[in-house]
Amino acid sequence: MNVLLLGSGGREHALAWKMSASPLLTRLYASPGNPGIGRLAELVKLDISDHSAIAAFCQDKTIDLVVVGPEAPLVAGIADDLRAWGIRVFGPSKAAARLEGSKGFTKDLCAKFNIPTAAYGRFSDLASARAYVEQTGAPIVIKADGLAAGKGVTIAMTLEEALAAIEACFDGAFGAAGAEVVVEEYLTGEEASFFCLCDGATALPFGTAQDHKRVGDGDTGPNTGGMGAYSPAPVMTPEMTDRTMREIIEPTMRGMAELGAPFAGILFAGLMITDQGPKLIEYNTRFGDPECQVLMMRLKDDLLVLLNAAVDGQLAHMSARWSDEAALTVVMAARGYPGTPEKGSVIRGLDEAASEGAEIFHAGTAINGGALVANGGRVLNVTALGATVGEAQRRAYAAIDRIDWPQGFFRHDIGWRAVEREKAGG
Ligand code: AMP
Repeated sequence: MNVLLLGSGGREHALAWKMSASPLLTRLYASPGNPGIGRLAELVKLDISDHSAIAAFCQDKTIDLVVVGPEAPLVAGIADDLRAWGIRVFGPSKAAARLEGSKGFTKDLCAKFNIPTAAYGRFSDLASARAYVEQTGAPIVIKADGLAAGKGVTIAMTLEEALAAIEACFDGAFGAAGAEVVVEEYLTGEEASFFCLCDGATALPFGTAQDHKRVGDGDTGPNTGGMGAYSPAPVMTPEMTDRTMREIIEPTMRGMAELGAPFAGILFAGLMITDQGPKLIEYNTRFGDPECQVLMMRLKDDLLVLLNAAVDGQLAHMSARWSDEAALTVVMAARGYPGTPEKGSVIRGLDEAASEGAEIFHAGTAINGGALVANGGRVLNVTALGATVGEAQRRAYAAIDRIDWPQGFFRHDIGWRAVEREKAGG
């Protein structure tokens, strides 16, 4: 098979790495990719917003499958447009990607199909949003409806914060994404990420993970795209997984089919495990980054076979096997992230780090004058397996010790919750 992978992050490097292990793969192309992906794929420059140019490339190179990494092209309808040209695509249609592209759409789906989630209201004007918040009180959660690169959510502990967040949304802080606002009940519990591979009718559980969104040790400081993750999530016991499938995922699959928008692709449920059981916080319609990196480390089966089955509606006949080991990834970021990261500093020692048994996935890297340099906020994902999360953690940090990059930083406590649980003996 010739495959075109779209994206440039650590998620896409992990997908490229896993697909490269498949005997089905003939040639892998990636656009735009990054230097790590460039070791596995031929990098091509395509304009992600020009769907007909991408289709022409696919025809020219006889691409058998396009794998879409990030959400923005899915929400823009790339899967529909390429399919109209007869090209096979792994990723949901524009109508199905509304599960990520519109928080209000997902909340209405939950209400209609009785899927447990936080109580909510949807508003397109300031006065009614304000009245709702004043009536319900704080703590409360304010969300811009559309895609806001993870920045559109405010957890307001006071009424003043909530009102300020609503005003910021309607004032255009998130552009068109904030033209509508979702106001939600504040949920408490432990968060977990739950993934399913879907073919429109069948959802195959596809691993669990937990991530660390805050930039600083001890879960402090501003939110980021994710500073590290591990898999599996200990809170997702077999019982909790069964409940999540029955109460959340299966009604979503039935509901989307009923709405004429069957979901095919990766369904990534952000869950809050509350006293009453799992509740949906949000859906994403693609792999998480950095969660994908730990899932790919643990997946024992051929990823390309599974992606093909999802595209062809054959998942009912498939299973996915996972390593019993835990995987953990630590994100190394450039100083300044999540604000403006410093670019251009030289990174050395990756071969030495890999010799510790770690996989090092590239995100924001570039080659400059023959040297590997930082070229973004999140730069490297240092990823290891271990018999326990604690052992995977030790291996990942041992690899980081070998990386020579004084301008980079990372959290020192990725996996702390799972490691504490292991120490406590459960
Ligand atoms: P989202 O972009 O919807 O995943 O929200 C980002 C983060 O905000 C989540 O990962 C949660 O930590 C938090 N969050 C979102 N919604 C709620 C809620 N209703 N209650 C408590 N925390 C929430």
